[in-house]
Order: sequence, then structure tokens, then C-alpha cells
Amino acid sequence: MDIRTQKTFEALFALEDIRETLRQRLPNITNPEEENAIKESVNRIRRILDDIENDTGTPDVRKIADNIDIRSREETHINIQPIQAAGRLTPEARKALIAYGDGYSTCDACRKPFRLDKISSPPIAPFHEQLASFVNMDVARVVPGARRGFQAVASTLVNKGDSVIVSALAHYTEFLAVEEAGGTVREVPLNEHNLVTADATAEKIETVKQETGRLPVLVMIDHFDYQYANEHDVKGIAKVAHQYDIPFLYNGAYTVGVRPVDGKDIGADFVVGSGHKSMASPAPSGILATTDEWAPKVFRTTQMAGDLTKRKFGVKEVEMLGCTLMGSTLLGMMASFPTVKERVNNWEEELKKSNYLIDGLLAIESSKVVSEYPRKHTLSKVDTTKSFDLVAQEHKRRGFFLSDELSSKGIVGEFAGATRVWKFNTYGLSWEKVRYVVDTFQEIAEKYNLQVNKGKDSNDQ
Ligand SMILES: *Cc1c(COP(=O)(O)O)cnc(C)c1O
Repeated sequence: MDIRTQKTFEALFALEDIRETLRQRLPNITNPEEENAIKESVNRIRRILDDIENDTGTPDVRKIADNIDIRSREETHINIQPIQAAGRLTPEARKALIAYGDGYSTCDACRKPFRLDKISSPPIAPFHEQLASFVNMDVARVVPGARRGFQAVASTLVNKGDSVIVSALAHYTEFLAVEEAGGTVREVPLNEHNLVTADATAEKIETVKQETGRLPVLVMIDHFDYQYANEHDVKGIAKVAHQYDIPFLYNGAYTVGVRPVDGKDIGADFVVGSGHKSMASPAPSGILATTDEWAPKVFRTTQMAGDLTKRKFGVKEVEMLGCTLMGSTLLGMMASFPTVKERVNNWEEELKKSNYLIDGLLAIESSKVVSEYPRKHTLSKVDTTKSFDLVAQEHKRRGFFLSDELSSKGIVGEFAGATRVWKFNTYGLSWEKVRYVVDTFQEIAEKYNLQVNKGKDSNDQ
């Protein structure tokens, strides 16, 4: 870690120590001992600030609570890790984390009817309405991850022995949600371009009908899958599902929060998004949005009464287990939301950067892109079996040579040791960083005598 980053963390930690003194004192009264503690911390912070200004000093604090390392990956590296890119927090989210870190911090002003999505201070209730309109649906809830959205829908719609249509590229959490509900997944095969089509979905529905005598109860398809990040025809698939009267769940884990999503236009009955993957939010967070038609089902309230006490918990929603994200996770999500709402409009620019990086890699002799091309997403899968892997065969570090070379240039996030088929994500990188990454890959290639066709990166941004 560079000393500036190190010292920035030390300053933040020292401020937290002052904060703790403020928390321990009597309301607005500091005794001499506390005054002293504050003074000492202030002096420490002054020295730290000098170090930050002058880029000097030596590390003082190496661990949090003795055994937790400081995580400085985003400060000290360019991170192209496939699932982390669009979950990086905004500065506003980081501030919200500091201010709302205490357990049930959302609950200060919780009033009747005592439900998270009804709280108006902080503005959680309006946030729910904004979330619904952000994906153009009627009603939204926050959930601990996209997976919990699948789970709520599957648990509502799927009974033992029911079939659910997913794709041959479905995420494992879709499998698990169906399994937990007692259902069976039936996968739509891919076409020769690794795409899920409406026709193939219709065929699979017919197959299930013939084999089981019943229609599937849900169609759940990823707009962009996690393996290739290819774009699948969700609108056409939703239409097919509706022709059979089957509800359609749009999996927007890789879209909601990075590009515009219009649930009504797609024809989605459910829109699921991932906060920590695509909405610059802390984990675990996500959204489940639905229509007025389905809301009473998936967000049904408890009907149960205790046999002894006769207690009932009226407005608590069964699938949400009452309340979901009750602290800094939600506040972080809310604090990022204004930025997220804006940034979806920059998707085309993100795609240019994605394609620029891909073109830069393709310029390295015999490298291939496995995802559809040109790219319609910032996540991509490439095949360097005939380029970087040839180097790895001869190198004493084998596949790790590439991660060694990259990390020595400050680039991390590609799967360490992988030189054949691997993924990366350019989301949110500046042009300056994207160019740096391309130049670095090409320099490594040249260092190991791979041909680089410089004329090939035509995108002259
Ligand atoms: C990441 C991912 C998920 C899981 O998202 P969580 O928010 O972590 O539950 C689901 N589906 C797809 C396609 C994904 O890429």
C-alpha cells in the first residue's frame, strides 16, 4: 500500500477514535480525561495529515481488531475483477456507511405500521417509490441480494414438483431458489451464438408440458448472463411466457444500476437487481420490483396468529420476513442512488471503453473474444490460449506470470493463474485507466514476443 493511502486510513481511524470519545461522554460534556484523549487524537491526525500532504511516514496501523487487513485494492490498483466493478461504492455511500453503521440504525423514527419501507426519516419510503419508477415497475422492495429476490418469487409461485424455466447460462442462485421451493429447473438451450432465444424458450415450455403434463410456473431469464455477458432477448422471451400465461422474472443482476431498464417495456412481472453487483451499494443488497397485479402475492402480509397469545403481525410481509436491510446497507444504497440514476445514461460511453479494451486485446496475435462482439456489456470473456497461455507454458511461474506482470503495473482482478479463458469488467474505469490497461497488456505481450498489431485498435478515443 502506498503511504498516502495508508495514512488516509489511519486518519479515518483516528477520527473514529475521537468519535468514540464523543459517544462515551455525557451529553455535550467532556471531562478532562476525554478532553485529553481528543487532544491526543487531534495531534495524531495533524501529523498524519502532514504525512498525507508530503507523501511521507511509515505505517502505524496495520490491522483492524488485530487480525483484519485494511482493504485498499481500489485505492492502490486498477481493479478489473468481473463481479466487483459496478458495486464499488460512491463517496456518498461510504459516508452513509460511517454515519449509519450501528445495527438497526434505520429504525430511529420507525412508527406505525412498523415496516422498513414505510419509514420516512431517513427517506426510505420515498426511496422505495423511486426504485420502482427507476425500473418502471409499480412496487419495489429492497432485498439482501438478487438471490433473495429470486427466493421470494420462487417461494411464492413454485410448489413441490413445479417446473421453472431458466437458461443454460442461469446463475446458480436461480437454481438454489427453485430447489428451496421444491421445484425443478428446466434449462433453455443456447443457440450457436450462445444466446437464449424466444423460440427456444417456447420449445422448452412445450417440452415441459409434454413431459410433465403441466406448464412451468415461472420463466426466469438473465438479460446479460454472468458467463459471457451476452444480451438475451428478454422482451421476446417475456412475450412467449405470457402467451402461455406464465409470469416472467427479469434477472437484471448485471443491468439494473448500470444501464437503463424498463420493466414494463420488457414485459416483466418481476424485475430483480443486485445492489452490490450493479448499484454501487454495500452487500448484501438488491431490489425486487413487481406490478400491481403481482405485488399482493409476492408481498403478501402475514395471516398467522399465535395460539396462546393470539398475536398477529398484520402488515409484515412474509417473503420479506418483515424488514430486510435495516442499517447501513440500505443507507449506502440510498446514498449512491442519485449517482446510479444518472450513470445509467452513460452506458454507451461505458460500452466504448469496453470495446476499446477488447480491441486492444484482440490486437495481440491469436487472442480471441468469447463473448458476443462488438460488446454490449462491460463484462467480457476472452480466450488467450494461443497468446498469453503459450507464454505460460514456458514460464517458470506458469499461468501466474500474467497476474505477476499485471499486478507489478497495478492491475488486479483477473483470475490469478488463468491465461486461457478469463473474464474482466471495465465498468466505471476512466478512459485514462482503460488506455493504461490496454497499453500494459500490449507491453506484456511484446515483452514475451507476442505480435501486437497496433493498427488494429481502431477506436481512437
Ligand atoms: C451476480 C448474479 C446473481 C446474484 O446476485 P446477488 O445480488 O449476489 O444475489 C444472480 N444472477 C446473475 C446473472 C448474476 O450475475
